Amino acid sequence: MPNNSAISNSKKRPLVSVSTSVPKYAGPAWVLALQTKKNTSRLNSTFRLMAMRVSSASRQRAHGEVNFHMPQFWSSHGCFKKYLNRFGHVSSPFCIACGDAEETPEHVVLECPRFEHERNGMRTIVGEDVNMTNIVERMCASKEKWDAVNRTVVQIMSALQRSWREEQRPAT
Ligand SMILES: [Zn+2]
Repeated sequence: MPNNSAISNSKKRPLVSVSTSVPKYAGPAWVLALQTKKNTSRLNSTFRLMAMRVSSASRQRAHGEVNFHMPQFWSSHGCFKKYLNRFGHVSSPFCIACGDAEETPEHVVLECPRFEHERNGMRTIVGEDVNMTNIVERMCASKEKWDAVNRTVVQIMSALQRSWREEQRPAT
């Protein structure tokens, strides 16, 4: 999907709907391919890219503004231990609460018990079965759903940022 303003927002939405449907309906053929972690992360990257494009389209109208946390969430380039660890900013990529799970956007927004409270509000609105594959489609379905995901992402990312700042503060 070209990322330029030549494509109007009203055209972008159906495009996204088609591009999410194609991988979805081809699902059975992908089952084997997705058993490899590498392929799963490739598919996730595709969804993330679409999400960023949709974010930029929606920022211009219907769903209101997009804050700087959302791109961090979709790109994984934020205060996530897995990302920080890649650049040597933290000693471990693992979540401080879960130990054996890497701290990624998926982990904090969809799995980590630390953020259960923030996640519950979103799940009530976008569905209990929300996951990285269907989240984009769901948030595009209505402003209420968009706002619910946005709110949760902002709350969690702000908390991660606060704790990262705390860790950076020199001991007195
Ligand atoms: Zn965790």
